[in-house]
Amino acid sequence: MKIKVLGCSGGEFPKHRPPSFLLDDDIVFDTGSLTNVLDIKSQLRVRHIFITHSHLDHIMGIPFLADNLLFSKKSRGVNIIGIPPVIEALRRSLLDGSIWPDFTIIHGEHGTLLNLTELKPGQSMKIAPYTITPYEVNHSVPASGYLIEEGERRCFYTGDTGPSDSTWKQVGEKQIHCLIIETSLPNRMKEIAIKTGHLTPRLLEEEISKIRPSPERIYAIHPKPLYKEIIRTELQRLKLKHLRLSRDRETIEV
Ligand SMILES: [Zn+2]
Ligand SMILES: [Zn+2]
Repeated sequence: MKIKVLGCSGGEFPKHRPPSFLLDDDIVFDTGSLTNVLDIKSQLRVRHIFITHSHLDHIMGIPFLADNLLFSKKSRGVNIIGIPPVIEALRRSLLDGSIWPDFTIIHGEHGTLLNLTELKPGQSMKIAPYTITPYEVNHSVPASGYLIEEGERRCFYTGDTGPSDSTWKQVGEKQIHCLIIETSLPNRMKEIAIKTGHLTPRLLEEEISKIRPSPERIYAIHPKPLYKEIIRTELQRLKLKHLRLSRDRETIEV
């Protein structure tokens, strides 16, 4: 499987784009950089959007995508998928008609533009050739990561998470070939990281030690732009050969 990193920053600055990952042409994980990176042709190919949690940097592309679909004659509806509290938050606060039109009731050429789909933690969705399963992570609002499986190849994308034992227990002892995991803050901000459900490089090291068998490759994402260089240095100090900071626009092959 090939995953294109549209954006992997923990904030928005010039040249730092919020998280969004494109699997093949039609599956997206989080939407921070969906409509500001993909051209309209690529946006129209998107069919399924998996959302990790309701924070703005992960959902901001949804309303703009819906607007673009509405004015594009060829558009088909898009599935927005998440664990139940995430879908509920989208319904309550983003798609309630108060700050943008409610695109879950607006029809395009081929039916409603956005269809909200709940997926329980541990429940898999098959989108050939992939099986995609959410697992709860530890964040300040309800959140899940996603395990993406294609045959025996596996990638796990955490979204935003603080330290968690239960996530890795639930994923079980499966070989994760590629781990895309957040590292938002530098080591000196450990306390605030734990309080807000984020990781520092040292906390990341502890998380990695909980995962058995150890992931083959690890991409750190979501550094707060102000701390990106110190986080890069602290990650290098861990001296883990299979770990590095991810880059916007790179393609990750699993
Ligand atoms: Zn968050
Ligand atoms: Zn975030």
